[in-house]
Amino acid sequence: MQESGFRRKTKIVATMGPAVGTLDKVRTLIASGVDLFRINCSHGSADQWSEYIQLIRSAGQELDRPTPIMLDLQGPKIRLGNLEHEIEVQDGQTVRFQVGDFLGTPELIPSNYPYLVQDVKVGDPLLIEDGKIVLTVRAIENEQVVCEVVAGGILKDRKGINLPESDLTAKTLSEKDLQDLAFAVAQEADFVAISFVRKAEDIEMARAHAKQVGENRIHFIAKIERREAIPNLRSILDCADGVMVARGDLGVEIGPHKVPMLQKEIISRANLTGKFVITATQMLDSMIERPGPTRAEASDVANAILDGTDACMLSGETASGGYPIEAVKMMAKIAREAENHPLYKYKPVSMPRGSVHQIPNGLAVAAYQTALLMDARLLIAFTNTGGSALSLSKKHPDPLVVGATINPDTARRMRAYWGVEPMLLESADSIDSMVEEISVKVKAAKLAMPGDVVILTFGYPLWATGSTNLMSILKIK
Ligand code: ATP
Ligand code: MG
Ligand code: MG
Repeated sequence: MQESGFRRKTKIVATMGPAVGTLDKVRTLIASGVDLFRINCSHGSADQWSEYIQLIRSAGQELDRPTPIMLDLQGPKIRLGNLEHEIEVQDGQTVRFQVGDFLGTPELIPSNYPYLVQDVKVGDPLLIEDGKIVLTVRAIENEQVVCEVVAGGILKDRKGINLPESDLTAKTLSEKDLQDLAFAVAQEADFVAISFVRKAEDIEMARAHAKQVGENRIHFIAKIERREAIPNLRSILDCADGVMVARGDLGVEIGPHKVPMLQKEIISRANLTGKFVITATQMLDSMIERPGPTRAEASDVANAILDGTDACMLSGETASGGYPIEAVKMMAKIAREAENHPLYKYKPVSMPRGSVHQIPNGLAVAAYQTALLMDARLLIAFTNTGGSALSLSKKHPDPLVVGATINPDTARRMRAYWGVEPMLLESADSIDSMVEEISVKVKAAKLAMPGDVVILTFGYPLWATGSTNLMSILKIK
């Protein structure tokens, strides 16, 4: 059931949820092309997430395709509280909000956000359910926020609120997020996504907390979905291991018309900085309800790939949609088609900013250029943390990158990287034995044939972190 033929390089992220919560479904998702699973801590419970993690690990083992896991922290998502019943609000009407845990009525609507009264100013917009319902703050009276409805609709339990023009007091990481991060550490998640990042310190704080509760192996992905993050993009990229173009909340914050160019900007800056980048939200949204995508959606996936994204993400399409497997297969098909087109082939080398004098980067550029010059079949990075495989991946080279490692955690994480095929090695004691083993393995996997030229990169001393400093050109025997 594996995808056949040409190896797809753009990776596919799928969100777990009730629509795919069985071993059989997870197995089929992996076989259909999922390279990274996302678990959204905004929904479900720790018990449900543990069950999902078990399913992903078992299916990965059965298929001999260990697949990495990303836990997505909810962040300071402001929400309505629960309501007595659904409440219709009409244009021009006045609606009052108050912080607290009471049942909402048409007279007074609850919110979970403790700083609501403090953070909003008269004139600020207040958006509900991804901007479907729009209100303007008219007054603040007796601990209540009084709003006028600009675009009406129906208020439902626990829908999200956005305050795009207010300065928010809430920390990026709430108590719940810190608990969920500790859960991610305990479960040995590969990636953690941080929602509503505003500045580099948000990521530093998460990293420090992860260390405090026991480890520093997790890679952190900053979700770019707040207006305040945009001027700080450079420092966020320097600090995070990767970024996500989180188009859902981003579109509410800055307006949907600004999302396309910002997507291109974030992707290209991530590529220049050598950081992993995921494009997310509504990529094949109509496949939640239908077996095929709209033409606009198919184009959106292809265009994100042309923009240079490393991975494309499915959210509701796999978590709670009617056609999760079809959505993954469709995304894989669109990716293969885009990547096979001559318009995609030539990409200039990205030179990680600020690190031009670093030896591993110099070597990665040399390996990339040598591969191009010699029409090499593969770039093979012997890597301990996955860093040198990522440097090669970020140049989006024509040949596949084999990430060869003795570390199973590294092998699993590298599956998420663009164009990288991880391979777990047994021999580690000498360059001779490593080259011998990898030659056998790439032939067995049909990634190279006798006579093919491959470019290898190593660190000397062997396997020391950040030591990549040797390159070799080999003809496969
Ligand atoms: P975010 O802003 O973090 O993306 P979201 O509400 O948009 O939050 P998604 O992860 O994008 O959530 O998933 C889309 C939908 O799939 C959710 O609104 C929810 O209905 C459903 N879903 C996702 N994860 C789960 C889960 N673990 N359990 C139940 N339903 C889920
Ligand atoms: Mg979100
Ligand atoms: Mg979403």
